[in-house]
Amino acid sequence: MTDLQTQARWLEDIRDSRCPHCGLRDLIAGPWGGASRNVYCPHCLRGWNLHGVRYGIVSVENLGEVSEDQIAFAVAQYPNEQPWRLKPLETPGIARNGH
Ligand SMILES: [Zn+2]
Repeated sequence: MTDLQTQARWLEDIRDSRCPHCGLRDLIAGPWGGASRNVYCPHCLRGWNLHGVRYGIVSVENLGEVSEDQIAFAVAQYPNEQPWRLKPLETPGIARNGH
């Protein structure tokens, strides 16, 4: 469980498209399902699970270290979404799978 202060700081970073660990802005879009999406930082190799990706991130989970292979796979899998950016709240209707 992440304490509230840490969670608030992670949210602030993620909403600014920054890696909460190293602060750089090249987050890679990874697998997603429902309202959650994984993003990876290619600099410090951390993974983050973001909940609420359609309407504004509501929580951030630290997935720990990820491999470069995982990141390369995500880049190949989601080429049109790299680097990942939080979509503006004003345009929530971008879901592509009909949900
Ligand atoms: Zn990082």
